[in-house]
Amino acid sequence: MVKTIFLDRDGVINKYLNQDYVKCFEEFVVESGFLEFWKLHKKHYKFIVITNQAGINKGIVSLSFFIDLSMFLIREFLIDAVYFCPHREEENCRCRKPKNLLLKKAIERFSVDIENSYFIGDSYTDLECAQSVGLSFILVLTGKSKLEDVNKWEKKPYKIVENLSRLSLIK
Ligand SMILES: [Mg+2]
Repeated sequence: MVKTIFLDRDGVINKYLNQDYVKCFEEFVVESGFLEFWKLHKKHYKFIVITNQAGINKGIVSLSFFIDLSMFLIREFLIDAVYFCPHREEENCRCRKPKNLLLKKAIERFSVDIENSYFIGDSYTDLECAQSVGLSFILVLTGKSKLEDVNKWEKKPYKIVENLSRLSLIK
């Protein structure tokens, strides 16, 4: 059984672009908090990205750029896998978060130890996806959601952190 940190990408690993997609390397700016968190945790956990990228099927983000960027993450941060959904919401696919098809595939492929693993995200969509498979969800406030948004949420995160640099998941 493998301890794993699942991560949303935009607003978690890289700086959140308000209502915009990352379309080129210049727009991909790594969060310094993620970098610190990664240094501390990489040897203890697998790191797997689960990301919605509707910009691909909207024709805003090129698939080849998305793959180049994912390969960069795999090389530079030793990310173990990147699972992505390219579909637009109206396509009603089975993989777009909050649906959990991608997450389930990853859990099976890597024999993930759910009890000792976490999902880190910046939105309610991430929370619903994580909790639907029983993963502890950690909300980071560097992205889409603000602390006051959480009051309106029906389900609550396991933990909320301002920035990933202040988070330690090493027991
Ligand atoms: Mg996000």
